[in-house]
Amino acid sequence: MLDTPLVPTEQAVSLAPPAVAMRRADAPKDASAVDRVDVAVIGGGINGTGVARDFALRGLRVAVFERNDLAFGASGNSSGMIHGGVRYLSQSPHVTKTSCRDSGYIQHIAPHLLFRIPFLMPLRGGPKARIVLELVDAYFRAYDDYQPLKRGEPHCRLDAGDLAQLEPGLVGGLVGGVTFDEWGVDGVRLCVHNAVDAIEHGSRVLVHTTVESIARAPSSGDPYRYVVSGRDRLRGRSTDVRARVVVNATGAWSPITAALGGLPQAPVRVRPGKGIHVVLDRRITNYGILSEAIDGRQVFIEPWQNVSVLGTTDDDYYGDLDDVRATSEEVRYLVQGVARTLPGVRLARAIGTYAGVRPTLYEYGRNEDALSRDHRVVDHSVDGAPGVYSMIGGKLASYRLFAQELCDHVAPHDLGNTVPCSTHTRPLPGGERVPDSGQLGACFGVTPVAARRAARPRADVAVRERARHDVRVRAGAGSRSPIRFARGARSHRGRCRSQNAAGAWSLRGNAVRRPVRANRRLRARPHTVRRTCDGPRISRTTGALARRRAGA
Ligand SMILES: Cc1cc2nc3c(=O)[nH]c(=O)nc-3n(C[C@H](O)[C@H](O)[C@H](O)COP(=O)(O)OP(=O)(O)OC[C@H]3O[C@@H](n4cnc5c(N)ncnc54)[C@H](O)[C@@H]3O)c2cc1C
Repeated sequence: MLDTPLVPTEQAVSLAPPAVAMRRADAPKDASAVDRVDVAVIGGGINGTGVARDFALRGLRVAVFERNDLAFGASGNSSGMIHGGVRYLSQSPHVTKTSCRDSGYIQHIAPHLLFRIPFLMPLRGGPKARIVLELVDAYFRAYDDYQPLKRGEPHCRLDAGDLAQLEPGLVGGLVGGVTFDEWGVDGVRLCVHNAVDAIEHGSRVLVHTTVESIARAPSSGDPYRYVVSGRDRLRGRSTDVRARVVVNATGAWSPITAALGGLPQAPVRVRPGKGIHVVLDRRITNYGILSEAIDGRQVFIEPWQNVSVLGTTDDDYYGDLDDVRATSEEVRYLVQGVARTLPGVRLARAIGTYAGVRPTLYEYGRNEDALSRDHRVVDHSVDGAPGVYSMIGGKLASYRLFAQELCDHVAPHDLGNTVPCSTHTRPLPGGERVPDSGQLGACFGVTPVAARRAARPRADVAVRERARHDVRVRAGAGSRSPIRFARGARSHRGRCRSQNAAGAWSLRGNAVRRPVRANRRLRARPHTVRRTCDGPRISRTTGALARRRAGA
């Protein structure tokens, strides 16, 4: 089952062991009052919540510590694509394969969260344009082998006329292009749903609680061998949890977290890569469209409810991980890059930005873009801390698999638990039954697409209510952090410089309402906005075009 070998890697083994100075915790005054769990997970991003759910579904007791709100880091600030990793096909085909396979599983467990994004990749004219089109076509033919794993439509080759028909706003003397098919998700919702399911299976999720230290238990024979100490940032209270296993899932913060336990930082080193997005006030196109930035990097525009999102940059980041912001230069860079292919973006108003830092696997000497998006589990037993693991790298699109790889190893090895993984078959809360949008539409006299869009946010309301009920019941009235995190179940899109999901609450309203007013005022639209598309199955349209071209 493990595609990726668990570390100890050779590099880690060759480190002089154990440079560890994990301290021993003081004996508590009242040992019976200390909470005991099988696994303490540090970090409430997609890897932390994903691994918590997996352990919880195996019947293990889990506590998750998140110092901000859930999805505060990269997970809530990503491009939100459960993509098949087409970009990695030539360099790391196994990343493409695992991404596609896991995308298929995530669709299965979260049909209420995922939505199709049909993509266009237009190609500009030039001396070698025809050859480039052939090469791109061949590349996507290879990608088509993996597409069935994620229920993706095979790519379709388009000529300039097809492109103009599909998206009249495109410019640049295009020779043609290809379509491909990806899936989108709100990363905040994905984290919240994983956390809620973990809670429903007995876990505790402590938000706004910073882990300040990881220490050995006071007595050496104690099977609950680690003490994870957290501090509630809102109330100032401290919490100690005794755990048999500790998982560091703090993304770009991983080396800092390792240091909190006196562990060496080298094995968990990441290369933090900053990425920003720009939110425009209207839905400019119904397709994800790729374009080229001034430095040749690929950038894109994607439709998101009533707005458009431009993304993304990828730059080495040396700043404060808790204060990541888009700069006006980065915004101009993205707008320029997308406007080269779709100039209509210049007529729209930027209403927000959001930024995050990728926890990319460390490598020296390569461009940010070329870095591997693979993931790795680091076993700190070689550092003298058996039962402590770090999750490094990875993607939203393969979070479930990453969690499974870790749990498949840790559950039997450290916890004597042989319950098999079920995160690929058991739906996330709200995903058990998705209403039939055709019936729903007929009932309310709207199109199935409109019915689907209207129904999707309601599933989150249900999740929020369940979380409210469950956390109160399990944690006891007046206990810590009722469900502050569940506010993240609302969309985070459109927030301005707001790094926590709770802050998105009001801004989201603006992001959704404003374009409607703005569109009414528009005298000339950049091009026709197809309002019904959430999306039309691109292959149907392009398939028809292709058949017409072939004279069928
Ligand atoms: C701009 C951008 C675009 C991306 N686009 C995509 C995409 O389209 N598709 C895709 O698959 N992937 C994408 N990714 C990658 C993906 O988002 C990340 O790989 C993934 O979210 C990493 O998740 P994580 O849980 O490891 O880290 P994070 O989401 O960063 O979570 C780490 C958490 O740990 C918490 N933490 C840190 N220190 C402590 C402490 N001491 N105590 C308690 N909590 C702590 C932080 O507050 C944070 O919430 C993108 C990333 C970026 C930045």
